[in-house]
Amino acid sequence: MAGKNYYAILGVNQKATREEIKKAYKKLAMTYHPDRAPEDKKKEYEEKFKEISEAAAILSDDKKRQQYDQYGSQAFSQGGFEGQEGFDFSDIMSQFRSGMFGDFDDLFDQIFSGGDSRRHQGRRGNDLLYEMEITLEEAAKGAEKVISLNKLEHCKECRGKGATRFASCHHCQGSGYLKRTQRTAFGLFQQTGPCPYCHGRGELPQNSCSHCGGEGVERKRKEIEVSIPRGVEEEMRLRIKGEGEVGEQGSPAGDLYVLINIKPHEIFHRQGNDIHITIPISFTQAVLGDEIEVPIIEGKALLTIPAGTASETLFRLREKGLPSIHGSGPGDQMVKVRIEVPKKLTKKQKDLIIELHEEKLSKSFLKRVFGG
Ligand SMILES: [Zn+2]
Ligand SMILES: [Zn+2]
Repeated sequence: MAGKNYYAILGVNQKATREEIKKAYKKLAMTYHPDRAPEDKKKEYEEKFKEISEAAAILSDDKKRQQYDQYGSQAFSQGGFEGQEGFDFSDIMSQFRSGMFGDFDDLFDQIFSGGDSRRHQGRRGNDLLYEMEITLEEAAKGAEKVISLNKLEHCKECRGKGATRFASCHHCQGSGYLKRTQRTAFGLFQQTGPCPYCHGRGELPQNSCSHCGGEGVERKRKEIEVSIPRGVEEEMRLRIKGEGEVGEQGSPAGDLYVLINIKPHEIFHRQGNDIHITIPISFTQAVLGDEIEVPIIEGKALLTIPAGTASETLFRLREKGLPSIHGSGPGDQMVKVRIEVPKKLTKKQKDLIIELHEEKLSKSFLKRVFGG
């Protein structure tokens, strides 16, 4: 029998466990995510992504996998793949499309939950994005912030259900499930799906909540605590699970994403986890050497300037940079010294410098050039 080889598509063998299938799918989905495709391969990636998602959806469902093992992919051609219950391809696509790569785990759990946990839920609420500006010091040390957001919350009167009085659904006898018979080329298949009358809830509303007009939601201002991790980087998105907008009819909320912007610092420049700074030193400090205090992100540090230091010399203060958010060691602070030339001199200073100047010329340069 012709048809697609779902095992080959995912690169697993026929005895692969659900966990192995999930792993294989996850790996492929990360690779072929359409948003990661090069410009000229968009179509190709999308097709491939669709193909692996289809394979994963079938093989992760014990019942469908059994049908597939028996009849091949044709068992699912009736009505098209996207019509298969328990897996809404466009929904999955749109979640991938939202660019929330960090959410792969959730998404896979959802796909591989067998659909059961989704049956009693409506559409998940919207994700929200909040831009937050922080200082470089806050990025270095981490911070606790409270933000205030105006967003959709569950109606407090009906707790998001849109009604305050309910009766058991008579279509499904309150179970939330209905048996459905599907005719395919291979005979009749009986499938259990969510009751379309009560949307799998098992009960039907008897009134409309007067507070929210039956919507189940109301707009409210809410304060949310945001924990900024040490070493956070520019344009990182922190995810706060469940603090997006609530979904309709009591379904779960989306997530809140906090986009980090780090204000430019007056003296410190960040490069990865290293901090760069330029420090002025005097001519005599450069010539004779000195020990100076330099500002670092955590306060101050001592820097030894050896005698005979040239302008623009770079010194490294090890591990005085920013902590790494990825768990590697802290960065360094790079200190560039710049010799400042004094613009005003006292009479005495001027005489000394003239003396030095003539001495230097006569003893080194002139001698070398002209001899004598
Ligand atoms: Zn029902
Ligand atoms: Zn209400």
